Amino acid sequence: MFKQALRGGVHPSGFKELSNQEAIKRFPLPDTLYLSLQQHLGAPATPLVKVGDRVRKGQLVAASQGMISAPVHAPTSGRVTALAEHTAPHPSGLPVLVISLEPDGLDEWDDIEPVSDPFARDPQEICTRVGAAGIVGLGGATFPAAVKLGSSLETGVETLILNGGECEPYLTCDDRLMREKADEIIRGACLMQHAVQAKEVIIGIEDNKPEALEKMQAAAAGSGIQVKSVPSRYPMGSEKQLVQQLTGIELPARSRAAASGLVMHNVATARAVAQTIDQGRPLISRIVTLSGQALTHQGNWEVPLGTLASQLINYASGFDCKPARLIMGGPMMGIQLPNLHVPIIKGSSGILALTEEEINPTQPSPCVRCARCVQACPMGLLPLEMAANIRKGDVEAAQELGLSDCVGCGACSYTCPASLPLVHLFNYAKGELANREKEARKMKKTQVLAQRREERVARQAREREELLAARRAAAAKKAAEEAAEDNPS
Ligand code: SF4
Ligand code: SF4
Repeated sequence: MFKQALRGGVHPSGFKELSNQEAIKRFPLPDTLYLSLQQHLGAPATPLVKVGDRVRKGQLVAASQGMISAPVHAPTSGRVTALAEHTAPHPSGLPVLVISLEPDGLDEWDDIEPVSDPFARDPQEICTRVGAAGIVGLGGATFPAAVKLGSSLETGVETLILNGGECEPYLTCDDRLMREKADEIIRGACLMQHAVQAKEVIIGIEDNKPEALEKMQAAAAGSGIQVKSVPSRYPMGSEKQLVQQLTGIELPARSRAAASGLVMHNVATARAVAQTIDQGRPLISRIVTLSGQALTHQGNWEVPLGTLASQLINYASGFDCKPARLIMGGPMMGIQLPNLHVPIIKGSSGILALTEEEINPTQPSPCVRCARCVQACPMGLLPLEMAANIRKGDVEAAQELGLSDCVGCGACSYTCPASLPLVHLFNYAKGELANREKEARKMKKTQVLAQRREERVARQAREREELLAARRAAAAKKAAEEAAEDNPS
């Protein structure tokens, strides 16, 4: 293990024991599933079904479009009852297009095809199958896994890292998965290693998960895969922190892990890869942690995608008291939900219902310049200075201070004694900069189109002029020839 000092980080209370005690349970099929066409980073999927269609379990119901996108498959057999907008699992609460599917109770599989002898196959074939199965980063990032695998294969990587950190408080879905499905994760890791042709695989697990560590080390025995314990410190699950802890490599600012010969995937993503290659099963369900002290029962559930958060809570728990905050994901980087009428998507690692006491709301007060946020930042940024500039409306100055390196981990906000909403300011400013860039690109495109139009109009005028001149010359020539014929000398 590399002993060099890690930058930043905080130690929030874990609350892991609330949900990590019991085995994963399977959630039964609800009356209706709401399959969002935007369950991943990138372009939304395009629906391939219409209202009234009967679909089978695992059938492709929406195709990926563009370079960065992922297809969507039916989690069970049934009938499509609607193709309409529905509340999105997003803080804005803005609607997204969803396919409503009414299960028929038969749970009848579509024709699915496992890959035989996968290690004898071309690595690109594994990447293609992973893409066709709609697998995305299940740690919450939801970046299409095949795109990451494919580009790693193309550029070449030495090391595949599997992230079993799960450093967010409350979340225990990866912990339980590693305890219960370690063999499948290791199998997925071997398949991913083949897909990217990596020389080595290292799995990092925080030391607050001893049972998971033990199970994973036992499953990896003899495979050549290294399973290592890393200190529990938020955000240990971030790429930069985990890579440094496991390999000693400090990823430079604004560079991608691939540039240092590394690629990182989540442990649950590896399991999904194994299920796809060995069983032909696309990504149609995921493990969701249900936690928070506003709930009667906490735990982990394997949930069909498209299940509403309200259906899951009503079945699995119910409320002990009125929740003060609802979150999809973890409390540090998750998104606050407008209500529970939102569907579980591929990135839904958890549904948290937190009490007033757990969120401990305090009014922000002026910055006391204690620099705790600077010490906490894993990216070596100056959160107080960036925030001061953003509050003045100078997002460019925040950008110069490294705003784009901010990973949005919230360690600065967590540690701030003035309760300043630092990470919210950074997310707002990043959105503002992205909008400006989009506007600038749009303006540039408009300028290019206008310039092309001007050039086209000028060219057409020139061509018209040349044509007229040619016609005039031909007419003059003909007239001269006729005059010559009329007056032979
Ligand atoms: S932690 Fe909060 S109070 Fe302290 S310097 Fe940073 S922004 Fe100011
Ligand atoms: S949210 Fe950004 S600025 Fe704050 S600690 Fe994390 S990386 Fe640093």
